[in-house]
Amino acid sequence: MTNHPRIWLANPLAIYTGNDEEASGGVVISGKTIVELVAKGKAPNDIDQTIDVSDQVLIPGLINTHHHFYQTLTRALPAALNKELFPWLQTLYPVWANLDPDVHRAATKLALAELLLSGCTTASDHHYLFPANLTDAIDHQVEIGKEMGVRLAMTRGSMSLGKDQGGLPPNSVVQTEDEILKDSERLVSRYHDSQPYSMSQIALAPCSPFSVTTELMRDTATLAKQLNVRLHTHLAETIDEENFCERSFGMRTVDYLESVGWLSDNTWLAHGIHFNDEEISRLGKAGVGVCHCPSSNMMLASGIAKVKELEAAGSPVGLGVDGSASNDCSNMIQEVRQAMYIQRLRYGSSEVTHFDAYRWGTQGSAKVLGRDDIGELAVGKAADIALFKLDEPRFSGAHDPLAALLLCGAHHAEAVMVNGEWRVKSGKLVDQDIDQIMFKHKQAAKRLAARGIS
Ligand SMILES: [Zn+2]
Repeated sequence: MTNHPRIWLANPLAIYTGNDEEASGGVVISGKTIVELVAKGKAPNDIDQTIDVSDQVLIPGLINTHHHFYQTLTRALPAALNKELFPWLQTLYPVWANLDPDVHRAATKLALAELLLSGCTTASDHHYLFPANLTDAIDHQVEIGKEMGVRLAMTRGSMSLGKDQGGLPPNSVVQTEDEILKDSERLVSRYHDSQPYSMSQIALAPCSPFSVTTELMRDTATLAKQLNVRLHTHLAETIDEENFCERSFGMRTVDYLESVGWLSDNTWLAHGIHFNDEEISRLGKAGVGVCHCPSSNMMLASGIAKVKELEAAGSPVGLGVDGSASNDCSNMIQEVRQAMYIQRLRYGSSEVTHFDAYRWGTQGSAKVLGRDDIGELAVGKAADIALFKLDEPRFSGAHDPLAALLLCGAHHAEAVMVNGEWRVKSGKLVDQDIDQIMFKHKQAAKRLAARGIS
């Protein structure tokens, strides 16, 4: 067994551990895990390296549980501005149908870079567009994620219900059920690692009730059980979707979810806005996780998720930036702030604290992904850490550093560690050239938009 150096991140300006442990003196990292929490005024023994973080706020690495990396290519696209979900999707599907491997790679790299720089250490993506020349989109994502050193929770999305069959997406972007299930199996066997501290996991993720067949929902649940992987989909994002379910299946979204075998603690849903009390209680009892996506929900005017009721009922609640065409960025620390503020509109200021928001973006998100090895600072947890400096004008004079990070609006991490490795140092990506990543990405976005509507 190799003896890893013991690194002490010493005396942070403030720390959020996500539990009751006192760690004002910082944390000690060795290898890929946290090995010691240091109480106020104490110093650990046998330290190989001490890093003074007394001018930085230390939090567990943020966990993003829902995204669509490819959408970074269609940010603020004029044709899609000022629309709600269904017309917004109908405008964008034909543009997205022109994705190719080059533009998709550029989008993946940019999204992961942006996430890392905002303090995110675990990234999930929901990729559901597989035009004929992009059948290996998730292979690209895993390859680039490994290169960037981000912990991955990729989901194999799918669409099987084209316009001709009463669905929303154009026929050119849907696949057959057989293609989808075979590829899902291939990806799980190639990339899913279920061990503790896993850097790569795969879940199965039919896109939404309005873009896949009932058979695919059912068969995907069966396959996920067989392969022992998680299930993910969009649900209850809009009233349009609720109407679609009532019209097409004769039931509401949660009844539909149950009818296809998805009402379990193996499932997490993106959005989960339009649930009534009885549905919340059923979701909570079953332990279905919900990824709250505040910016996207505000941008598309979809509504405000009832996250406190969901948590009280037993549902894990995490956060997601959602796709970058409905956010239109991939900044996790900003998303934590947005969550705090949108939820205050629902529950009031005294009922939603900055600790609630931190919890959703860390332990809550970890639970949503079915993981107990990330999301908090404790001995034995993965060494996934984000550090923030309060050195911009927006923080000047702030009193409580932990509250200031959200209230004054942090948007850029000073340092980020994933699985014990530094991925951001002095506010810059380690071993990656952000200017080059952005140059390639801008070219790709231009190329995709120039192809117009297929
Ligand atoms: Zn989404």
